[in-house]
Amino acid sequence: MAKRKLTRQQRQRIHAQQEQSRQSSEIIDDTAQQTGLVIQHHGKQAIVEDTNARLIHCKIRQNLGSIVCGDQVVWEEKENDEGIIVAVKGRRNVLARPDFRRQVKPFVANIDQIIIVTATEPELSLHLLDRYLIITETVSLDAIIVINKTDLMSQNKRQQIEQTLSTYEQLGYPVIYTSAKIDDELNQLQTKLGDHASIMVGQSGVGKSSLINRLLPDLDIKVGKLTQANHGKHTTSTSILYHLPTGGDIIDSPGIRDFGLWDISEAQITNGFIEFRPYIGQCRFHNCRHLNEPDCAVKQAAKKGEINPLRLSSYQQMLAELATEN
Ligand code: GDP
Ligand code: ZN
Repeated sequence: MAKRKLTRQQRQRIHAQQEQSRQSSEIIDDTAQQTGLVIQHHGKQAIVEDTNARLIHCKIRQNLGSIVCGDQVVWEEKENDEGIIVAVKGRRNVLARPDFRRQVKPFVANIDQIIIVTATEPELSLHLLDRYLIITETVSLDAIIVINKTDLMSQNKRQQIEQTLSTYEQLGYPVIYTSAKIDDELNQLQTKLGDHASIMVGQSGVGKSSLINRLLPDLDIKVGKLTQANHGKHTTSTSILYHLPTGGDIIDSPGIRDFGLWDISEAQITNGFIEFRPYIGQCRFHNCRHLNEPDCAVKQAAKKGEINPLRLSSYQQMLAELATEN
């Protein structure tokens, strides 16, 4: 069924109502209303965890706008252990991606950091890593780079990788090494996850599910299974929030695992290479794209070793890809 088209005025009114309900949610005067955390969202329903860690299936009141995993909400209890979400609290941040109609859709809210998982098996792609970092810079979140499957690396290989990744550490992105097959190889990751809310992204096959399974106590995995069972089969692609024993949360978001392949603009690419920033504005041409232009400060910095030439060529490759996509 086609959606009824709203006039601009109607949209503004709805927006104002939504804002009002967000704000009024700060004051809960009705005892039937409670606060909760959305741990999974699917279509017109969500699973909310109340302040006593009880899970409630909730419907969503119309015109509330989007509800996503990680949202703090106000909900009312109905019969049969069901509820209805009546307001969404203000968000610290929200990650959104364009859907197939190129409309930007939020999918997770209130996170602190993005864990970019990569591994030498299938292969270590620095180019893809750079794309993930651009998205992280676009949304101003902290990124942590995880190199998984250390158990499969020879000592030589490991040294070689540590050397390559030192560039990223110097840029301020922590790099940690893990193995989902060895207990002691998870300590560093656990420390980094701490009491933060993290989302895990990375190419398929690098070991994200294996790491999450190792990080969670049995109980939480059961919660995940339960929420999936209750929602039916399609939900394998929806995000689920799990509580970690370290006090933080981790959001497993299978549907956005190709995150590194989203549309990104040229301005976002330039902004995402943070080490270029001191040189921007110092090229001969104010609109220099750091490709073939003469007197380019970024290219000169790469020649002098102040910028890693691999990162410069990664940037140049992304611009070339952008040109062929459009
Ligand atoms: P995902 O697609 O990123 O979620 O990756 P999976 O967790 O499904 O893992 C893909 C494959 O790699 C599976 O066969 C895992 O058993 C394997 N795997 C995951 N982590 C490790 C690891 O640290 N070491 C080794 N040797 N294999 C791993
Ligand atoms: Zn330049």
